[in-house]
Amino acid sequence: YPGAAQYVPRTEDLATVRAAAERCHGCDLYRDATQTVFGEGSATADTVLVGEQPGNDEDLDGHPFVGPAGHLLDRALAEIGVDRDTLYLTNAVKHFRFVERGKRRIHQQPRRTEIVACAPWLATELELIAPRLVICLGAIATQAVLGPKAKVTALRGQVVDGEHHRVGVTVHPAAVLRAEDRAQAYTAFVDDLRRLFAAG
Ligand code: SF4
Repeated sequence: YPGAAQYVPRTEDLATVRAAAERCHGCDLYRDATQTVFGEGSATADTVLVGEQPGNDEDLDGHPFVGPAGHLLDRALAEIGVDRDTLYLTNAVKHFRFVERGKRRIHQQPRRTEIVACAPWLATELELIAPRLVICLGAIATQAVLGPKAKVTALRGQVVDGEHHRVGVTVHPAAVLRAEDRAQAYTAFVDDLRRLFAAG
């Protein structure tokens, strides 16, 4: 893949960067997806949350974390007293990757090559926002921010020092929805978030 770098404008203005991302052809995911789903929220956020990629609802809607996983995240944030509007929410990969099964579009994890191709957008978001804390939700976000060897199982609930910001790790809210014991997984997710916000 050629990657997104050639599509990233040289600007300090996040809105200009977001607009440019609408036309990104840095990898093949733009072909089947409906639209680019860029990050959203406060451009001066103290904390940035990074997920994996837009899901079915986000792809259709054009906004991050608006589907079932986003609702679960909203509930968890409300429970620990964090206002979503004070944050910036984005994804490691900005287009939805899926396979069609009948009328359904089934989420597919992005490939390493797609994560690498899309990395310049996330890097630019983090550079312009310059948050104190970056919270990675799930394996793909963790690898995109901390490198391909970083493991959620080893880092979950911890905050480590990154080059430009502190980095906290937990699971993706979609993993909570898929868990066998959803109540227990939700409690653990809320506990993680509480700890990360406090430690960051
Ligand atoms: Fe560009 Fe990222 Fe979309 Fe690929 S996934 S086309 S790199 S915005």
